[in-house]
Amino acid sequence: MLRRTIALVSVLLAVTTAPQTRAADRIDVIATFSILADLVTNVGGDHVNVITLVPVNGDAHVYAPTPADSKKLAAAKIVFTSGLGFEGWITRLVKASGTKAAIVVTSKGVKARIDEDEHKTDPHAWQSIANTKIYVANIRDALVQADPAGKDTYETNAKTYLAKLDALETDVKKAIDAIPRDRRKIITTHDAFGYFGAAYGMEFIAPQGVSTDSEASARDVAKIITQIKKQKIPAVFLENVTDDRLLKRIADESGAKIGGKVFSDALSEPSGPAPTYIDMMRNNIKEFTAALGQPK
Ligand SMILES: [Zn+2]
Repeated sequence: MLRRTIALVSVLLAVTTAPQTRAADRIDVIATFSILADLVTNVGGDHVNVITLVPVNGDAHVYAPTPADSKKLAAAKIVFTSGLGFEGWITRLVKASGTKAAIVVTSKGVKARIDEDEHKTDPHAWQSIANTKIYVANIRDALVQADPAGKDTYETNAKTYLAKLDALETDVKKAIDAIPRDRRKIITTHDAFGYFGAAYGMEFIAPQGVSTDSEASARDVAKIITQIKKQKIPAVFLENVTDDRLLKRIADESGAKIGGKVFSDALSEPSGPAPTYIDMMRNNIKEFTAALGQPK
């Protein structure tokens, strides 16, 4: 009888304490922005607690870290960054926080694109799915190193997610191939789709450069309006992270139509059209196709 009671008590204990133990086992990791947070979540699964610094629909180029961010970094085991100059504020934040976390640059191994006009490194490497696969491999390796107990889970999750990215890549290529070649030209507010354009054969033109940290000049805007008229560029696209007014003006003055909203640097809120990286890419090709596909 006594033995049975003890057995019952330990079963009850196991049941009531199991979820807490699991939560405590999770490692705290930082992702600098929402797109990266989604990739880390896919690989880390329930072994990680992902903390995102720049929120959904937020602009990482001009983000100002808070003292609370500093505390989050101090408590984390890994800080995942995208790199290539995207998070200009991260070095100072890491230093200020005094964190002992591993700092992982997830774009490591990606062939960086240099913007021809600005002679600047383009940080938006995740817009090519081939690059995103490199990010995923780097995330997997960093998690295995920081938390060897989770190795099998991280490797299995990465493999599953990479297969989904393969399928996504096939669909994106198919969708862009279906757009007539002479219509594959798009205006966006800032130059965030260079990697997408190079990977899938589309031209993106933007009044603002590869960062949003400086305003478009009147000269650049006038140049784009002339270019739209001359080349009969069909559509301009609004972005979730930038102000709509400039592009609405360009559309007005050039006669281009306004396509839908595209997502370059941040995911949407969970109920929006781009709550995950895969949803984001599918949303963007849907919008590009709707505006550029064969005119009816
Ligand atoms: Zn950007």
